[in-house]
Amino acid sequence: MANQCSIEGCMKPIKAKHLCAMHHQRLLRYGDPQHERVKAKEINCKWRRCEQPSVAKGYCQTHYLASRYLDKIGMAHIQTNMATHNH
Ligand SMILES: [Zn+2]
Ligand SMILES: [Zn+2]
Repeated sequence: MANQCSIEGCMKPIKAKHLCAMHHQRLLRYGDPQHERVKAKEINCKWRRCEQPSVAKGYCQTHYLASRYLDKIGMAHIQTNMATHNH
């Protein structure tokens, strides 16, 4: 559609210069609407399906504590089972 942002994959409505508000902002701020903020390489939590950044031993805060607890009670293997028990 003609009134969508011209950046590929962006479906937001145009605000100015064929760009949506977000991409227009980037154009103003960085001179490049496709500018991405360079972020430090983040390693995600290794817990299944968790996308939090890891803070300790490859786990996010929550799962680090959880895995430590599971370890302590000798049930570290349970995390995979827990994550797949969806049905
Ligand atoms: Zn856009
Ligand atoms: Zn996690």
